[in-house]
Amino acid sequence: MIHDIVHRYPHFLEVVYDFTVWFVSLFRRWLKPGGVTERFFVWFERITKGPMFHCQMCGQCVLHSTGMACPMTCPKNLRNGPCGGVRSNGHCEVLPEMKCVWVQAWEGARRMPTYGYELLMITPPHNWRLANSSSWLNMMTGRDQEHPRGWVTNHDDALALKPYFYATVEEGKS
Ligand code: SF4
Repeated sequence: MIHDIVHRYPHFLEVVYDFTVWFVSLFRRWLKPGGVTERFFVWFERITKGPMFHCQMCGQCVLHSTGMACPMTCPKNLRNGPCGGVRSNGHCEVLPEMKCVWVQAWEGARRMPTYGYELLMITPPHNWRLANSSSWLNMMTGRDQEHPRGWVTNHDDALALKPYFYATVEEGKS
């Protein structure tokens, strides 16, 4: 219910995302993994992102790069686009009643003027050691940026393609 309502306003969600990053960063010096602080963050993240995004507490949030659709709700946990089994109605091959997360991601991203183009980025492999920890805390402490050796981000490529991404969106409207 809440999930369906908030996903009608993906641009609003990216504004909230920016505010959250700013707000949490105010407390950066007190943010340490473990202990009471992390337990509080985990609890707060569960009660907010749970109903809004069906958050699975992966600890390495990529929502703003995936059109505000949580890729961990995909039954295959695919963080880099859909599998080959998307049904012709845009639904999941494993859970036919559920719209494919990546269809939701595309629909959200095209309505996100700030971060929508990040859908073109390749998301790093998920670090499962962060599961059930706070993604906000991990973002502020840099824990979520510890990628496998040799990993290279393609953010600059995605940024270069940003105008084409939004041009495609405009074409799709006409
Ligand atoms: S923290 Fe992970 S599981 Fe939760 S919304 Fe973000 S991507 Fe999804």
